[in-house]
Amino acid sequence: MQHYSVMSLARNAFSRHQGWQQAWRSPDLKKEYDVVIIGGGGHGLATAYYLAKEQGISNVAVIEAGWIGGGNTGRNTSVVRSNYLFPESAKFYDFSLKLFEGMSRELNFNVMLRQAGMVSLLHSRHDVEAMRRNLNAMHMNGIDADWIDADEVARLAPGINRSPAARYPILGGIVQKRGGIARHDGVAWGYARAADALGVDIIQQCAVTGFDIRNGRLRGVETTCGRITTGKAAIAVAGHSSVLAGMAGFRLPVTSMALQACVSEPLKPVFDATILSPSAGIYISQSDKGEMIMGGGLDMYPSYAQRGNIATLEGVIAGVVEIFPRLSRVKLMRQWAGIVDIVHDSSPIIGLTPVKGLYINCGFGTGGFKATPAGGWTLAYTVAHNRPHPLNEPFTLKRFETGAFIDEMGAAGISH
Ligand SMILES: Cc1cc2nc3c(=O)[nH]c(=O)nc-3n(C[C@H](O)[C@H](O)[C@H](O)COP(=O)(O)OP(=O)(O)OC[C@H]3O[C@@H](n4cnc5c(N)ncnc54)[C@H](O)[C@@H]3O)c2cc1C
Repeated sequence: MQHYSVMSLARNAFSRHQGWQQAWRSPDLKKEYDVVIIGGGGHGLATAYYLAKEQGISNVAVIEAGWIGGGNTGRNTSVVRSNYLFPESAKFYDFSLKLFEGMSRELNFNVMLRQAGMVSLLHSRHDVEAMRRNLNAMHMNGIDADWIDADEVARLAPGINRSPAARYPILGGIVQKRGGIARHDGVAWGYARAADALGVDIIQQCAVTGFDIRNGRLRGVETTCGRITTGKAAIAVAGHSSVLAGMAGFRLPVTSMALQACVSEPLKPVFDATILSPSAGIYISQSDKGEMIMGGGLDMYPSYAQRGNIATLEGVIAGVVEIFPRLSRVKLMRQWAGIVDIVHDSSPIIGLTPVKGLYINCGFGTGGFKATPAGGWTLAYTVAHNRPHPLNEPFTLKRFETGAFIDEMGAAGISH
């Protein structure tokens, strides 16, 4: 374990980082591994870490086409929460939130978790009735969530438009106090460093191009850096899951779409909590640097273009300005998109595939950052034991045969 004191940080700064240790190695690719993880996003790196740490399997390679955390892990708006509707999701996402709560200590890497609460706004009688039902379900599932009145909303969201004539009047809200945000690239780097320290090889700038499958069983993985012999591989490539499944000869019930977000110029601290309006289709939080982070729904058509369209962006900005009129003159600084993997019940897929020895983690769509630790933990268990853990048992491909869907589409009202 490495601990950096203020003194050692200052020493390294003045010595121009001579002697500064690399956080993880850049090893040569070996010809054979026990497990190959495809995708160096948060989920892939967490899977590698938990394989080594919890399952005792450290002869593992993480193969990343670009750079680690450069996919959706580095593009998301970093909201974490566990206020889902169905018991299966509540268990899974609360396990994830608990892992987040211990993550900085476990990885010895500050992931800057800020549990300042996540507030869903209620603007109409319908919102109130629908959210009352959701709140009851959350309580039944043991999830901490509270009803708050309009005054408390205004305290958590200073500057919110409280005019009764507003297009989105504020009738109250639901808050999960343990919800909040965490530093997304910190999560990728923390898992990478900890996995590397346990012997995992992280190979960047190397893309998987095919699979060697014989008699329905995985024998190897083809990459742009050469062939790897392995009996087990796990796909964790989010928006590119269908492409990898296609290489292995099966189809996934997943559609790839762009999800975008944007940030304003930095402001002095305005609010700590994350505020979400299902009716307006927006959410907003403030980063530690002061930028207002804003997002909304998907660009609703299949695409692999990581741009995002103007109409969706306009809709988000219009909604934000209706609810926070004082932000109308703030300048927008950056906009971007990521390609996310959408499943029609808005729940993930973590489990075995039709190819023996090949496993998958995908379908987290617009909300998989918060699931990074649980996604990695359960996939590692599944790979090691060749069967799902009870936490991910409801989230395998089997539900597309049985029809036991877990429809979380409306749970929080909007994707994030
Ligand atoms: C704008 C936006 C906002 C979001 N906001 C939130 C939020 O607030 N909260 C939340 O919980 N979730 C959010 N999400 C969703 C979240 O980002 C994702 O669900 C999550 O990051 C997925 O992580 P991952 O590790 O599975 O995928 P990724 O981080 O995308 O990693 C997959 C990796 O696979 C690599 N890859 C692809 N093909 C290959 C190949 N052939 N060979 C090797 N490597 C390959 C890619 O380069 C990539 O690095 C948001 C997403 C976006 C786009």
